[in-house]
Amino acid sequence: MRVNEVIVKSALSKSNLPGLTYALNPYRGCSHACTYCYAPYVLREKRPWGEFVDVKLNLPSVLAKETASKPKGVVGIGTVTDAYQPIEKEYEITRKCLEVLLRRNWPISIQTKSNLVLRDLDLIERFKERDVGFTITTLDDGLRKKFEPHSSSIQDRLEALRTITNKGIKTWVFIGPLIPELLGDTLEELIKTISEIGVDHVLYDRLNVRRDMRGFVEYSDFDYGPLEAKIKELCRHYNIRCYNAF
Ligand code: SF4
Repeated sequence: MRVNEVIVKSALSKSNLPGLTYALNPYRGCSHACTYCYAPYVLREKRPWGEFVDVKLNLPSVLAKETASKPKGVVGIGTVTDAYQPIEKEYEITRKCLEVLLRRNWPISIQTKSNLVLRDLDLIERFKERDVGFTITTLDDGLRKKFEPHSSSIQDRLEALRTITNKGIKTWVFIGPLIPELLGDTLEELIKTISEIGVDHVLYDRLNVRRDMRGFVEYSDFDYGPLEAKIKELCRHYNIRCYNAF
């Protein structure tokens, strides 16, 4: 893993994602190395994905300046790359950004695949408006290892989700991208488990196949209709709200 320390000029970018005003990404590159990751396409990144991370060293101080002048809004943390990937243990850029946002009393929405987020619960709890989402694409940890090799195990994510929910913090689960081979036959058990934990809602999305996503071409013309109908039916059955991010 190649780690590059970089200096940035800006911290917050406008976000078009539902419920978010801004996006904040402390790292460029992601060592979780998910095989279906879209981020290199979003970032127009040519370096081999999963093999480098740019650490935005001065991000907390730039964020402090920007939050002093920009209108307050919900900050989505980790919208493109995971803000709690392993390098965060060492650099704590995400944690320092949370400290800035807490001081300014800005709302936050975190999305991750890592239980490292538990480290920052002491800060997250103190925000007035906050939510934490976990991406969980399967309940089968063997399949998870194949598609999301360096992320937290499914068990660790579920335990973290339970801990955070039990603290009274709003949580949600992103089942996406929907990849039938990765989901296996775990969809019902996954939705049942999420519902039992007390998660607020489920968000789901299909796989957007890009031209050079080797191994996923078969999904370019996949009919998601039946799978979407099944998700809706299961969420109704297990009494949990669900939204489509298509
Ligand atoms: S955790 Fe997210 S950003 Fe990181 S490799 Fe996986 S899909 Fe990409």
